[in-house]
Amino acid sequence: MSLKDLLYPKFCVGCGFIGAYICPKCFKKITPIIRGVCLWCGKVSGDSLTHPGCLQRLNIVATVSIFEYNPFMKKIVKNVKYRLARGILDELLNNITPEHLEGLLKFKKVFSGALIQPIPLSTSKLNTRGFNQALILAKFFSSVLGLKTANYLTRKNNVTPQAELKSRRERYKNIRGVFGLRPGVRIRDKKIIIVDDVVTTGATVYEASRILKSHGAGEIYTLSLSR
Ligand SMILES: [Zn+2]
Ligand SMILES: [Zn+2]
Repeated sequence: MSLKDLLYPKFCVGCGFIGAYICPKCFKKITPIIRGVCLWCGKVSGDSLTHPGCLQRLNIVATVSIFEYNPFMKKIVKNVKYRLARGILDELLNNITPEHLEGLLKFKKVFSGALIQPIPLSTSKLNTRGFNQALILAKFFSSVLGLKTANYLTRKNNVTPQAELKSRRERYKNIRGVFGLRPGVRIRDKKIIIVDDVVTTGATVYEASRILKSHGAGEIYTLSLSR
C-alpha cells in the first residue's frame, strides 16, 4: 500500500468497502449492453444503428455504448462528476475486459479513419472540475480503436446542467446553440465519432452532430461509456 493510499483511502462507491472505488463484488453490478436501440426512436436496432427512416431526423449513423445506465452506473457517473473523483473513472477503465468491448470492436472497420471528438466542457466548468470526463473516455477509446482524437468543438458557458432537466424537449432546448466550431478547423467530409460519458435523451450528442454537419462533416457516430 502506498502512502497516498494510507492518507486517502479509497472507498467503494457501491458498498463502502475500503481499498477500491469499485470493489470486485460491486463491479459485477456493471452490465454490458447486449441489445442495441436506435437513438432517435428508442426501438430495437441491430448494432445500435439509427433506422434508415430515423436518419432523416437524426444525423448520427449509430450510437455505440458499452454499459447499461443502471442505478450502479448512475452512481459511478455522478461520483465522477460531482465529487470530482476522476480516479473512479480511471479505475473503471483499467478494469474493462475484452468481453465488455465486444460490441465496440464490431465497429472497428466501420470506424476506420474516423476522428474521436469528446463533448467539450465550458472553460469555467473545466476550471472547477479540473478534468473533462469525455476527454478521458475519448483517449481510452482512441487507444482501443487506434484512432486519433480531435478538438473541433467549443462550448459556451453553461446553461442549466442537462441532468437537472427531466423532459426530452427541455433538454434539447437547453443545449441548443452551446457548441461552436473552433475557428480555422476544416472538417469537410470527415468521419467523426462523438464521445460522451452517458447518452440518455441524446440531446447533447444531437446538438454536437448538428454543428459538425452544418460545417460539412461526413458520417457522424456516437460512442459512450453508458446508455
Ligand atoms: Zn462495493
Ligand atoms: Zn429508429
